[in-house]
Amino acid sequence: MASGQEKNVDRRQRMRQLLEKPGNGTCADCGAADPEWASYTLGVFVCQSCSGLHRNIAQISKVKSVLLDPWSAAEVEFMDSVGNISANAKYEQIVPAFFYQPTHKDCTLLREQWIRAKYERKEFICVDKQEPYSTGYREGFLWKRGRDCGQYLSRKFILSEREGVLKYFNKHDAREPKAIMKINTVNATFQPTKIGTAHGLQITYLKDNSTRNIFVYHEDGKEMVDWFNAIRAARFHYLQVAFPGAPTSELLPKLTRNYIKEGYMEKTGPKQTEGFKKRWFTMDDRRLMYFKDPLDAYARGEVFIGSKENSYTVLSGLPPSIQGSHWQFGITIVTPDRKFLFACETEEDQKDWIAAFQTVLNRPMLPQEYAVEAYFKHKP
Ligand SMILES: [Zn+2]
Repeated sequence: MASGQEKNVDRRQRMRQLLEKPGNGTCADCGAADPEWASYTLGVFVCQSCSGLHRNIAQISKVKSVLLDPWSAAEVEFMDSVGNISANAKYEQIVPAFFYQPTHKDCTLLREQWIRAKYERKEFICVDKQEPYSTGYREGFLWKRGRDCGQYLSRKFILSEREGVLKYFNKHDAREPKAIMKINTVNATFQPTKIGTAHGLQITYLKDNSTRNIFVYHEDGKEMVDWFNAIRAARFHYLQVAFPGAPTSELLPKLTRNYIKEGYMEKTGPKQTEGFKKRWFTMDDRRLMYFKDPLDAYARGEVFIGSKENSYTVLSGLPPSIQGSHWQFGITIVTPDRKFLFACETEEDQKDWIAAFQTVLNRPMLPQEYAVEAYFKHKP
């Protein structure tokens, strides 16, 4: 008995040493540091959060704690013979460049579908399985939030790389689409919390240079993530044509983007004598937008935030002349044209918003961003 115990301790010690081997120090699936779980059927070391998702595919992946569970000699040998580098060389053989590989910061849906795509469906071993998002054409039904009623209605969506558009139809037999979204302005970002459903995707596009939002979901998580990657594929191919010779590494961050920050602030109008009103704000790249309701179809207003070299600044606090009741923690954004005044409910909010504005202000403007700035300046 005593020797059996000892061996178990030895084996756990060996497992602990395996974590030191190159590749095993980060989660095989999301890249999080210091994984302490392992799939002893796949031979990978994963973080606690991903180990929970491996339990959803229990028929092919069985997980245990590296530090707490008992390990048999055969299991230790297997973990030693595989490991993260060798497993990923197999299961991530042919991940398309545009395919979104989630990190530990991403929503559960993206991480779960990544793990299923990798090990369960083996999409990155067999290229035929990538058809749902790689052919440049996709059509299907999604639940779309109605603009006025807020109810989700089934709508037919078509993504066509050849036409350069994503469009949807209100009636199943309609010939004319309700909206045509040009792929060059489309963005998609998962927003489970804001939309209130785990599979909720926010799609935005520009219409007459103003941002439009639509909110969609599909009950099947795979369908929703396939749509997301199909949009990324279409954007990737569009950008490859628009910027010939640009390295892939430069194009990939442009396929889809998450917002820099979202949340409530209060704002006053251009005269600064109007009462402060609570609004939902979204900082999307250089566009600061505000909405009455977080799920509104379009913004009530958009402000372009340039860079400090171009005379944009953010200040903590409000000018002393400001009257009326408002939240305590003010922020003043100075643009070449005017000042924008905001108020946050908490000091932490104020700090976070200022940090968000700083990241944008500290980044020099790109040539194409001057065109966007000019549009905002001449906006009617
Ligand atoms: Zn992980």
